[in-house]
Amino acid sequence: MVKKDKIELLGIGISELEEFVTSLGEARFRGRQIHKWIYQKDEDSFYAMSDLPKELRAKLDEVAIISFPKVLKQRVSKDGTRKYLLEFPDKKRVETVLIPQRNDNEKDIRYSLCLSTQVGCPVGCAFCATGLNGFQRNLTAGEIVGEFLSSRRELKKKVKLKHEQPISNVVYMGMGEPMFNYDEVIKSIYILNDHKGINIGQRSITISTSGDVKGIEKLALENLQVTLAVSLHACDNELRDKLVPINRKYPLESLFKAVEFYIAQTNRRVTFEYVMLDDVNISRKDADNMIKLVKPLLANVNLIPYNEVEGLPYQKPAKDKILQFYNWLVEGGLNVTIREEKGADIEAACGQLQAKR
Ligand code: SAH
Ligand code: SF4
Repeated sequence: MVKKDKIELLGIGISELEEFVTSLGEARFRGRQIHKWIYQKDEDSFYAMSDLPKELRAKLDEVAIISFPKVLKQRVSKDGTRKYLLEFPDKKRVETVLIPQRNDNEKDIRYSLCLSTQVGCPVGCAFCATGLNGFQRNLTAGEIVGEFLSSRRELKKKVKLKHEQPISNVVYMGMGEPMFNYDEVIKSIYILNDHKGINIGQRSITISTSGDVKGIEKLALENLQVTLAVSLHACDNELRDKLVPINRKYPLESLFKAVEFYIAQTNRRVTFEYVMLDDVNISRKDADNMIKLVKPLLANVNLIPYNEVEGLPYQKPAKDKILQFYNWLVEGGLNVTIREEKGADIEAACGQLQAKR
């Protein structure tokens, strides 16, 4: 006899769950109960769903499965950042990072969750650890949401928190280029946003792209209230070709045209991320080029002092050079922030994710 594959329920919405339970001959509201268990109580075992009849739990376990990624390993930074190594059923691994938001009251602390969208990354930026081992596969929307649920469940196990909802923000800034996995990423946003489920506000979600123009144009037309972050890193094509290879396909002119289109369509402020590499991209000339490009736009600049990666030749600039570059930009009229380094002691900072350890 051929063994029937179990139906994967992770990533499935409320109406599909209702359909599913009616197909088993059960009442629709059972679908709503299961939905609540998965997306509000982070539960992946039917046997733990205590408001379902025992026979139904056994039946569900026979025909369906909820595949939360397994937490293989976790590391906690001295600044409270938590990094999880997660494994999917096919043994592929990614990392997610929970970053505590600044808050004076320890118990009231809430976190930003940094999600991965691909196993590895095909873009291969010169300074990034994720691209080092090439690209393996895209994650499904269910797997991306699974990163959220496994991380939250683990966090709640380890830390006594006041908030029912300890994760206030989600950033698509982990491993992978989100726009290269566009449909699943958008689907995952709708699942995270579902007010009957996880209920993360769209405005609390940020998608970061290395500059995939087609993706930016599509996102502009989605009617979503999420924040777009664009990894700029260089303001002349010659340097950007080297640092962010997607620039050879979509040079700065086409990237900025897409960003202008995005702003015109959405009327939303865009963030430009800029990794600061010593002696590479932080000269006066680089600052002037950035001011010219960014000042006309509804945009912020987020400077990211480089987090060093073993085996790569780049270095983090000294503090005074970071401040100098920041001041040039501010004097030039830009809205600039410097990203606080979090989790570097556990290789959880931006661009340090590799899913090896
Ligand atoms: N793939 C997406 C999301 C990446 S992570 C993207 O490239 O936009 C978020 C930011 O961290 C990006 O701007 C990325 O370029 C940057 N980054 C990558 N490696 C880094 C490193 N080692 N140090 C600091 N920032 C890094
Ligand atoms: Fe991929 Fe982003 Fe790393 Fe570039 S910076 S290699 S796009 S994950």
